[in-house]
Amino acid sequence: MKPLALEQATINAEGLLLAGSPHLVLSSVHFDTRQLKAGSLFVALTGGARDGHDFLLQAAEQGAVAALVSNQEKIPAGLPEEFGLILVNDTLRGFQKLAAAYRKDFAIPHIAITGSIGKTTVKDIVAHVLEARSPVYKTYKNLNNHLGVPLSLLQMEPQHQAAVLELGMNHAGEIDLLASLVKPEISVITYIGESHLEFFGTREKLALAKAELLPHTAPDGLVLLNKDSEYLPRVAHLYAGEIMYYSVLEPCDIWAEHIQPNDNGTQFDVCFANGERFSAFLPLHGKHSVLNALPAIAIAKRLGMDTEQIVQALSTVKLSAMRFEQVHSRHGSLYISDAYNASPSSMEAAARTFAELFPGRKKVLVLGDMYEMGEQSAHMHAGVGEALNDIVEHIELLVTVGEDTQHLHRAYNGNKLHVASKPEALAALLPLRDASHAFLFKASRGMELWTLLTDLEQHE
Ligand code: ATP
Ligand code: MG
Repeated sequence: MKPLALEQATINAEGLLLAGSPHLVLSSVHFDTRQLKAGSLFVALTGGARDGHDFLLQAAEQGAVAALVSNQEKIPAGLPEEFGLILVNDTLRGFQKLAAAYRKDFAIPHIAITGSIGKTTVKDIVAHVLEARSPVYKTYKNLNNHLGVPLSLLQMEPQHQAAVLELGMNHAGEIDLLASLVKPEISVITYIGESHLEFFGTREKLALAKAELLPHTAPDGLVLLNKDSEYLPRVAHLYAGEIMYYSVLEPCDIWAEHIQPNDNGTQFDVCFANGERFSAFLPLHGKHSVLNALPAIAIAKRLGMDTEQIVQALSTVKLSAMRFEQVHSRHGSLYISDAYNASPSSMEAAARTFAELFPGRKKVLVLGDMYEMGEQSAHMHAGVGEALNDIVEHIELLVTVGEDTQHLHRAYNGNKLHVASKPEALAALLPLRDASHAFLFKASRGMELWTLLTDLEQHE
């Protein structure tokens, strides 16, 4: 964070200076005492399981020089004499206002990414490509909610020439708030899928919630919409500025053709509506990875990068762990870990990609429960089972683990086994642990399916 005077922070948070010198310099803002450093402003959040006001003394001990508070009665005696205190009515709102004001000082393109799946992947690819030219700030890991987005904004540094931010949501209204903090010049909506349906009921309502990003995008900016996601064209009218559609299925503003998978990644042609085209290689697997690279290409072009630089950057993309990550086993097996998260579309995409790759290996799909599907969970799981009937001939065995995957199991017509727990899955997989097999692990994060991979590898 650029240094900020306590007085300015008070104005930015729309608060009142209770104590401390207006000139006191703040060097970072945190609500988690474990993150505090010398010079930090500590945000005493309330409303969670614990009240941040109870940690004010601890925050001061850990280097905080000031705090954002909302409850004067809970300010403890014994804080350092020069300790700064900003009073607001609501510390969460104050924190978000601080972030929004801080962002206004950065006249650099802000790129906001939302959608049901692919946000982190697109964020990482966009940031990687833009990094080839100049320093880029990007959301750390998955900090995409009402706390993570302001925290991310407050970590931008003067050297950054662009910011790429992931916006997540569970409920209507959340993107509206996050987008009002980020005020993006460029926005991307990756996909309207099945995630969080339990909170929304229908995909139309989900599409509307994601589309809250559009009115916050600068009128002379750019919005990128996934053409292959059926609900997105129906919300496009909510943005009056320039819209670009991207697709791996059909010509539009920017699309991919001749998508050729190989062991190391995917070769494809990038095509533009104006007739321009070029070839690119992405060291990632699956058509959906190519889809996720298209907004990065469009954004890099828009920001003036040349084709050669973009193609070079795409060839060195690397994703965060557990996203179709290849792990070689000491037993000769090949493990693909995609256990970071799952929804029906991402599970189907991962299984199809897996089925296409690694010729010569016998392929074992290990699929765990997908959470947050609400009442439609059984139906959604069964839908994936049916979809996978297309690839039966490429799959040696499907092992489903958990509860709702029993519906996936029933709908699938190939060689299959359903088990209720990971220890049972381990027992079934151990005899297959050899150089002739490849395994794909995929489930919602809550299943922690990666422990199965580790147990399989480490078991004697
Ligand atoms: P979260 O809501 O957990 O932050 P996210 O939107 O950031 O999720 P990613 O982490 O990028 O999504 O991807 C989640 C999973 O979906 C990964 O397994 C990834 O490989 C897969 N995936 C990404 N994009 C697509 C896509 N367009 N179609 C299908 N699967 C996809
Ligand atoms: Mg994410």
